[in-house]
Amino acid sequence: MHYDIVIVGGGAGGLELAAQLGRKLGRREGKERILLIDRSGFHIWKPTLHEVAAGTLDVHQEGLSYPILGRANHFSFHLGELSALDPVAKRLTLKAITAKDGAVLVPERSITFTWGVLAIGSGSNLFGTPGAETAHLLERTEDAEAFHTRLLATFMKASFAPERTMGVAIVGGGATGVELSAELLEAHRALLESLGAEQRFRLDITIVEAAPRILGGLPDKTSAQATVALERKGVHVRTGAKVIAVHADRLETSLGDIPADLIVWAAGVKAADSNTGLGLETNRLNQFVVNDRLETSAPGIWALGDCAGCPWKDGKLVPARAQAAHQQASYLAKALLARLRQARVEEPYVYKDFGSLVSLGENKGVGALMGGLGGPNFFIEGLVAKWFYVSLHLAHHKAILGVGKTATLALARLLQQRVAGRLKLH
Ligand SMILES: Cc1cc2nc3c(=O)[nH]c(=O)nc-3n(C[C@H](O)[C@H](O)[C@H](O)COP(=O)(O)OP(=O)(O)OC[C@H]3O[C@@H](n4cnc5c(N)ncnc54)[C@H](O)[C@@H]3O)c2cc1C
Repeated sequence: MHYDIVIVGGGAGGLELAAQLGRKLGRREGKERILLIDRSGFHIWKPTLHEVAAGTLDVHQEGLSYPILGRANHFSFHLGELSALDPVAKRLTLKAITAKDGAVLVPERSITFTWGVLAIGSGSNLFGTPGAETAHLLERTEDAEAFHTRLLATFMKASFAPERTMGVAIVGGGATGVELSAELLEAHRALLESLGAEQRFRLDITIVEAAPRILGGLPDKTSAQATVALERKGVHVRTGAKVIAVHADRLETSLGDIPADLIVWAAGVKAADSNTGLGLETNRLNQFVVNDRLETSAPGIWALGDCAGCPWKDGKLVPARAQAAHQQASYLAKALLARLRQARVEEPYVYKDFGSLVSLGENKGVGALMGGLGGPNFFIEGLVAKWFYVSLHLAHHKAILGVGKTATLALARLLQQRVAGRLKLH
């Protein structure tokens, strides 16, 4: 099987690239020209995984099927997990697809390509911490769903336990940890509204961060505002605390033990170990080393998003953010289409940091926009920040669905919430 352009990974970056190329190329020349491969059959925008975990977003309502997206955007789709790559022969191998009982549904397959793009994202960095692998992660949809199932069970247990308290410890005070804590508070509040007084229980959330402040990658003011907002809501923010080990019922930290019914690891970003065996140059975070045109060490193979170690400024790499994956997808679509016309996009890829926004629950956000209305660092908070935050998700949907369908989907979601409530309790 051969395709002209194969994109592996249909996440924040890869799916947008497939949609852009498909609409330009596949529409005219047939969707057989572009192939998107993903190990999952449906797409969820990764920055919403904390909402899936808390149950404030229903994955089955939110998920978009790749084959349907392919039909609308004129690209082909194959379900499969990349297991090997021959960068010289331009051939990749996908693992066999098996049923739950282990029966092989589709055997291992090989696909050859003219140009390849790797957009397979990243996972967490456990920093070799003993027991960290037993904590919940938020890397994949399955992780978020597993957390949600466990959360509901723990909610149930706490509502009947004599002490009526439940503890959640979140390792990592980055955007993921902060947003998850806010979303869990929302879920708890919504649940309490449905419980009788005799079943109500307290939720104790602790964020553990080794650095002196949470949201370390964001301006001081954003971090300070988020800390105040979280503490006001009752979240314990423990900064300067290094996690020594993760145990079944507690976190062992340099500032003492933190008892917890649920422990989430939301610290650090690291790409898959298997990336190092694909015959491409990788860095210490297992990212594919790319130049400022997103080219890997093998000609004809590009990488984008979290899995790409792309140079930025002051010796730093482009941060692992949806914003970067989105920009790189647009850059690469332009560059590949130019190449097809035997032209060359002269400008290298330059990451433009438009700032960062963090959601602090249903109607609240906080963040800083860069180089905008208020100068180099324009601080926003509250409902405005939350709306800017939501608009990023809508922008992603617009890139893959177009304006009309995005608006319809947003309206459908709103109506569904009005009817069934925001919290998914099953
Ligand atoms: C809870 C949470 C909140 C976040 N919030 C924000 C935010 O507010 N703002 C922001 O900018 N960023 C945020 N991020 C980071 C953001 O999600 C990532 O930077 C972004 O999704 C990276 O896009 P990507 O396309 O590189 O990878 P991903 O979106 O992770 O997509 C990778 C895709 O590759 C597929 N894949 C992986 N391995 C294989 C394989 N071997 N074979 C086939 N397919 C494979 C996966 O199934 C997935 O579809 C958040 C992340 C999390 C977890």
